[in-house]
Amino acid sequence: MVVNKHRPLSPAAFIPPDLVQPAVRLAVSGEAALLNSTTAAAAERMFAAAATAGVVMTLASGYRSFVTQTSTYNGYVATRGQAEADTASARPGFSEHQTGWSFDIGDGGGACSFQPCFAEQPAAVWAKANAHRFGFIVRYPWMYHETTGYYYESWHLRFIGVEAAGDMAARGVPTLEEYFGLESAPAYL
Ligand SMILES: [Zn+2]
Repeated sequence: MVVNKHRPLSPAAFIPPDLVQPAVRLAVSGEAALLNSTTAAAAERMFAAAATAGVVMTLASGYRSFVTQTSTYNGYVATRGQAEADTASARPGFSEHQTGWSFDIGDGGGACSFQPCFAEQPAAVWAKANAHRFGFIVRYPWMYHETTGYYYESWHLRFIGVEAAGDMAARGVPTLEEYFGLESAPAYL
């Protein structure tokens, strides 16, 4: 499943059937602490390995339902207008967080959470170097917003499986769009 600004979920209100809360350090509660079962199991392995390496990693945002995304997006539209809203939030049905395959990491500190400076924090540095061993990719890498539709998010990971993630890392393929031969999706159609 590849979701981007050209490829919404189908159906738009898709709900993963196997959402579970992973046994990792949580920085959120409720639906945002959920992942699909495959992603949750892989996250548990990755967080444990990070902890062994002395790296503090938290689950900062996981699953986001269509209903939640709708209210978040509409809130931005109401206060900032649609053009601004589209830079701040995915449209309902277009967020990778709705798939259950994605989550954002934090480091328990918070000063750089969801900020560009998070890229230099140990959690992001470790994830960039090691996430592929657990089946994850940094989904929105630096300088590929014209392909992915999003500026660099060092905190946003996507599960694609150990084999594919390792292959992408070994071949230096930066984006899922390129890996699967999909068109670039810089903006909504
Ligand atoms: Zn994210």
